[in-house]
Amino acid sequence: MRYITASMLYDLVACPHRVTMDQFGDPTQRDETSPFVELLWERGTAFERETMAAPTQPYLDLSKYAGDEKERQTLDAMRRGEPLIYSARIRADDLLGDPDLLRRQDDGYVAGDIKSGSGEEGPEDLSKPKLHYAVQVALYTDVLERLGLSAGRRPFIWDIHGREVVYNLNAPQGVKDPKSLWSDYQGCLAEARQIVARTVKTMPAYGSVCKECHWYTGCQKRLEAADDLTLLPGLGRSKRDVLVDRIPTINALAQIRPSAFLKGKKTVFPGIGPDTLVKFQERAKLVTSPNPRPYLSRPVSLPVSDLEVFFDIEVDPMHDHTYLHGFIERRNGENSTERYTAMFAEHLSPLEERDAFARAWGYLQARPSAVIYFYSPYERTYWRKLRESYPDVCSEAQLESLFTPPRSVDLYTNVVRRATEWPTRDYSIKTLAKFLGFKWRDAHPSGAASIEWFARWIEIGDPAIRLRILDYNEDDCRATRVLLDGIRNLALR
Ligand code: SF4
Repeated sequence: MRYITASMLYDLVACPHRVTMDQFGDPTQRDETSPFVELLWERGTAFERETMAAPTQPYLDLSKYAGDEKERQTLDAMRRGEPLIYSARIRADDLLGDPDLLRRQDDGYVAGDIKSGSGEEGPEDLSKPKLHYAVQVALYTDVLERLGLSAGRRPFIWDIHGREVVYNLNAPQGVKDPKSLWSDYQGCLAEARQIVARTVKTMPAYGSVCKECHWYTGCQKRLEAADDLTLLPGLGRSKRDVLVDRIPTINALAQIRPSAFLKGKKTVFPGIGPDTLVKFQERAKLVTSPNPRPYLSRPVSLPVSDLEVFFDIEVDPMHDHTYLHGFIERRNGENSTERYTAMFAEHLSPLEERDAFARAWGYLQARPSAVIYFYSPYERTYWRKLRESYPDVCSEAQLESLFTPPRSVDLYTNVVRRATEWPTRDYSIKTLAKFLGFKWRDAHPSGAASIEWFARWIEIGDPAIRLRILDYNEDDCRATRVLLDGIRNLALR
């Protein structure tokens, strides 16, 4: 029997096709696990060990058991009424779960997981449970209910910040989204069952989640062969799935007459308005044209200064630690004047993080006439967090003024997304700068790889790794400059 497991639902939230491939794919076609994913596993295991090494209450440890024996030990422990059980295994019908924790409450148990990430996501005042955590703890709760051992639908996460985050599975998720997490779980469970029973066929879809997935190579080949719509920037799985029956490929999209799909003021495709359909058709026409060139879709006004600074940070999200602020400055538009400066927080200490942030802040303050360019809201988000952690470095008003045009420009949000079109699969800085001919010195450059190098630098202190981190960051800064120059040369269409 193929069981529906919590980790299967976790994967399904990111990509249903991943579940299909993990169940039925040819294992010889799997890519090697990326070092970053291995790092995540290592960190998860280490964090769980640390957490359970300093318990707030005694617990029964079942981690030495496996399989059916672990399941038997778990059931016996619950029947005895053990207050807290660590490393459990529970099963009912076609559901199988390995909750990290089962805690006695009233006459039953609630399940919990230990996560080396934050228990919630989103801005602090609007933070909410993570769906991929919710479906896991919901499955444990479902099993407990089927066994007659549940103390209610309020499982919990022990997170990286040392908090217990309770997931109220029955509560509406918000004013705009009255659905409960339990109903989302039911939807995921039904889909997983269909995938396992092979009554539904999933398709790969190009997305950021693919980059760290072990089916990447095979899926990309399949997507290219199918001329899949998700290979257009911004056209993801959900839009592809409503278009695909009538417009199956990029080539087909390039050739449609959008007015043929109008129904009143809307299109026949739920969730896709007439403007969006035209925008994607323009993208399809661009990539299928004989000599595709990027262009400006509306005029862009970029600030002018003799001094330009290209800025990029590196963050270890698992430790919430900003370890590097990199800047390339260029004078009078001359590339020969470029100079790279880095502020590196070399150890995982708040003192070092604050010091690097203060030096980076001082660097920009010493260049009041510079226009600062960065790519994505990431820099501003993390500098806001740093300012909150180290309020002596600068005031909120100073920070906000730094991130307000014309002092600085988020090239991704304010320019690339709003006013440009590219014949590429996505608008990441890697994709666009490579399209413009830029080459990273590293053979495998990525933010995820940099986090993994930083972890190894902390572990073994090898200067070659430190240099690799700095070179990568310098290249990211330079890529931002290459992109700015590329945008300045784009024709308006
Ligand atoms: S590579 Fe992408 S589409 Fe393919 S299984 Fe992985 S996440 Fe899904």
